[in-house]
Amino acid sequence: MEKHIGSCRCGDIEFYFYNDPINSIFCYCKECQALTGSDKWFGLWVPKDKFKFTKGTPSTYTRAGDSGKGVNYKFCATCSSALCAEVTAGNFYSVSATSLKNNKFNPKMSIYASSAPSWAIFPTDVPKFDTLPPGMGG
Ligand SMILES: [Zn+2]
Ligand SMILES: [Zn+2]
Repeated sequence: MEKHIGSCRCGDIEFYFYNDPINSIFCYCKECQALTGSDKWFGLWVPKDKFKFTKGTPSTYTRAGDSGKGVNYKFCATCSSALCAEVTAGNFYSVSATSLKNNKFNPKMSIYASSAPSWAIFPTDVPKFDTLPPGMGG
């Protein structure tokens, strides 16, 4: 099994996950814009049983997702790096690709493109969805 290691910027919090993500997305929703201070979040979707925090305890900010179920953002209280979002409706973490030590993954789709700011930049070689792809729920 391949192990992928990540941390916040200051190093207080570390984590890893095993295997390739089940999806990798650019998310342009308003929440991700606020979280990143950017046009998008680069999330790697990792099943919860493949992910583990190994150092420190992240702070949590919870909001309701489109499904009504909670999305729990995990971030470092010291340096404020966003590490992942626990999507309880899907039983996975959306791990911030930028927090990995060596990110080798590329985005496979753009989601919530209808919420993107006018200056957002989209990759041209992957599908783009107004919200979520059909059948993926939310
Ligand atoms: Zn930190
Ligand atoms: Zn989002």
